Amino acid sequence: MQVFKFGGASVKDAMGVKNVASVLQKVGHKDTLIVVSAMGKTTNALELVIKNYFENKSELSNAINDVKTFHNNILKDLFDNNNHIAFKKIANFFDELNAFLKINKSPDYNFVYDQVIGYGELISTTIISEYLNAIQLKNNWVDVRNHIKTDSYYRRANVNWNKTQQLITSSLNTSVLNITQGFLGSDANNFVTTLGREGSDYTAAIFAYCLNAESVTIWKDVPGVLNADPRYFENAQLLNKISYTEAIELAFYGASVIHPKTLQPLQRKEIPLYVKSFLEPEALGTKISKNEPLDPVIPCFIVKKHQVLISLSSLDFSYIVEENISEIFNLLHLYKMKVDVIQNSAISFSVCVDDLYNNLGELLHHLKAKFNVTCHENVSLYTIRHYTQKAINQIETGKTLLLKQLTQETVQVVTK
Ligand code: ASP
Ligand code: MG
Repeated sequence: MQVFKFGGASVKDAMGVKNVASVLQKVGHKDTLIVVSAMGKTTNALELVIKNYFENKSELSNAINDVKTFHNNILKDLFDNNNHIAFKKIANFFDELNAFLKINKSPDYNFVYDQVIGYGELISTTIISEYLNAIQLKNNWVDVRNHIKTDSYYRRANVNWNKTQQLITSSLNTSVLNITQGFLGSDANNFVTTLGREGSDYTAAIFAYCLNAESVTIWKDVPGVLNADPRYFENAQLLNKISYTEAIELAFYGASVIHPKTLQPLQRKEIPLYVKSFLEPEALGTKISKNEPLDPVIPCFIVKKHQVLISLSSLDFSYIVEENISEIFNLLHLYKMKVDVIQNSAISFSVCVDDLYNNLGELLHHLKAKFNVTCHENVSLYTIRHYTQKAINQIETGKTLLLKQLTQETVQVVTK
């Protein structure tokens, strides 16, 4: 049993859908469950539908029509015959969506969000399933809402593992090619819930866990997990093998690898995760598994731009001790600052943060009442795992160094 996940970018148009078929034909699809996200930027487009529903009713039908036209164009590219059942099925989803918006009385944004946003995945999987059937890749469309059960924490639902395990084991026939929706689940009242944006990887991990799958493969538009983000670094290299812990470390420092939430169920059952290119499906990609030493052993670079470096010292040269530090952290927590690096000495304390919610002004106001404060905005934080001197030089050259911290495996440098 293997689980494949195809993200929105892999099915952003008819060519992408055809490529899914070609990947399956090339690598085999015996005992396979495919988890698919919404096509291209559909989730964002549906977010606009929801926003308009609440704020700007006059634009609502245009927003829905955009989503409809986008999918209809893909349908037309995939099926020569306009009478193909796929057209009808997709039209039905839009009828359902319109009916929901018409009768809904709930003012709960998060509830409405999940009921609407789910159509992205319901539609994408229906189109792909119908297309695969049409080219004789016979498959079974699985409604994930009947398999993944969650609480009612809309937009960030928590999986009810017992119920989910029970439903998946009792009702999924694993000896056929199955295709299901990423990102979605349902609550005790059978309303749609979602697992958080970009949640489809997690869906693949949930199924793999419950099915004791042999592996999960995430198909991407990159060759695998790279040692650096190619947008910022030249010569990014493929990592052939990494351990779960290394992947979690890399994610912690800000690498857009795999979310720890996705890795956790896989790690518990030691199910390897492959990240491969949907353009080169036979290439090996990256394997993430237990105790796998990093291969090759090369420095891994992570950059976070637009960070804020705050340095504090006491007003009277007294030491910065537990009491002040706990006060500082209370404020950081209160203003939802994501702390990246901490450094302290006897009379000073520096912290590099990500001001995700634009609270810096208020935070500084509070800090200035108690400390001497210097603040550098718009700094870059570079983290190098498995650093070498050469790698450090590469980062530091030509930049003003504001803070540096070395541990055995990791160096962090804040630059301007
Ligand atoms: N379609 C959802 C999103 O864009 C889930 C996913 O892509 O993983 O967030
Ligand atoms: Mg997506």
